[in-house]
Amino acid sequence: MIIVAEELNPFKIAQAQLEKSAKVLGLDPDVLEMLREPMRTLEVRIPVRMDDGSTKTFTGFRVQYNDARGPTKGGIRFHPDETIDTVKALASWMTWKCAVVGIPYGGGKGGVICNPKELSESELERLSRGYIRAIAQFVSPLKDVPAPDVYTTPQVMAWMMDEYSKIVQYNAPGIITGKPIPVGGSVGRGAATAQGAVYCIREAAGVLDMDLSKCTAVIQGYGNAGHHAARLLNEMGVTIIAVSDSKGGVYKKDGIDPDAMFEFKQKTRSVRDFEGAKNITNDELLELECDFLLPAALENQITGANADKIKAKVVAEVANGPVTPDADAIFKKRGIFSIPDFLCNAGGVTVSYFEWVQNQTGLYWTEKEVADRLDRIMTESFHAVYDTSGEKDIDMRTAAYVLAVARVVESMRLRGWC
Ligand code: NAD
Repeated sequence: MIIVAEELNPFKIAQAQLEKSAKVLGLDPDVLEMLREPMRTLEVRIPVRMDDGSTKTFTGFRVQYNDARGPTKGGIRFHPDETIDTVKALASWMTWKCAVVGIPYGGGKGGVICNPKELSESELERLSRGYIRAIAQFVSPLKDVPAPDVYTTPQVMAWMMDEYSKIVQYNAPGIITGKPIPVGGSVGRGAATAQGAVYCIREAAGVLDMDLSKCTAVIQGYGNAGHHAARLLNEMGVTIIAVSDSKGGVYKKDGIDPDAMFEFKQKTRSVRDFEGAKNITNDELLELECDFLLPAALENQITGANADKIKAKVVAEVANGPVTPDADAIFKKRGIFSIPDFLCNAGGVTVSYFEWVQNQTGLYWTEKEVADRLDRIMTESFHAVYDTSGEKDIDMRTAAYVLAVARVVESMRLRGWC
């Protein structure tokens, strides 16, 4: 288990961000008290038969943060450093994320402390099935709907959907999203997070009067979200000058071809030593001069220690929690425009919502229907946050919180909770 400095504890950060928006909203302290902690938290122990015949017991969590607006929704992480505080923080951000894009869900999140890289395929399958059995009483397509997150894949979702369907004795594709298409997945889900972020960047460029064909982008984390974002930005004319992964980064002034880089990373398992590019560190990458910086890896990448050195005009937070509150304050002083995480990366949960609607109705959509609906939702949400930021003279993150929290509180009030 890793020990995180209190100021970098993601749940403390999530609570501080909520409190800041509560002040702007003049929120009743009793209502704030209700929103500061999750409504329900479950911790489970999962015994798994290992390939060598031994049994290993894993710890898992499921947090349902707030369900005033609908069933809770949120991914499942399989990670060795998973903690209940990370899961609580991510569940709270899911609550605000679903509210800010106006989809009828509350927020939830799950996790298992494990290192999937050390598990065989069959051990991973038994762990996935064991986790969903352990939380089966707690979830349902109308109560709490999980999805993939770090180190969980469409295959893991398929096993979990199958196990849950066996328990309830009917096919229940709506129990989980992010499934492979042949078992009820949606077209467009794979690239949805990046697509949503790119729609936000396009709108930001519009309000900031930037010409995309003359813009450059730097991407930290060339995984699922990062590589799709590079490809989609490049299609809009943006030059990708640097990318990185956990092993380091590369810089190429005249542009990196996103597809060639994807193939190269598949082959070599790293972005380093890409032809014609210069190897750089992740710290150097974050400090490059560019129009758009996309942190698309992990939490706490831009902090009080390096925010002064960031030279990007716009920071589009594809990852969850990549910028800490003290870095936010520095950005505000320096006039760096931020697209906050739970707006910027909401494309993933939005297309998860589309998948769930398709599962519940049995009517499946085309790629164009998915893309058009996602574009409308992301564009309207970006402008609602941008307008609130201007009207109340607050930064984009606080504006996103103010909108989202007000929507959750309105649902709580109408239900008679406050
Ligand atoms: P992923 O595992 O596919 O990719 C993560 C990438 O980051 C990998 O290339 C990894 O090598 C790299 N990385 C890890 N540590 C790094 C470091 N210290 N410096 C630079 N790169 C590093 O994950 P993903 O699905 O692309 O998710 C990335 C982020 O986006 C996460 O914060 C996740 O919570 C967030 N997110 C993803 C989705 C989604 O639908 N995929 C939705 C919402 C938010």
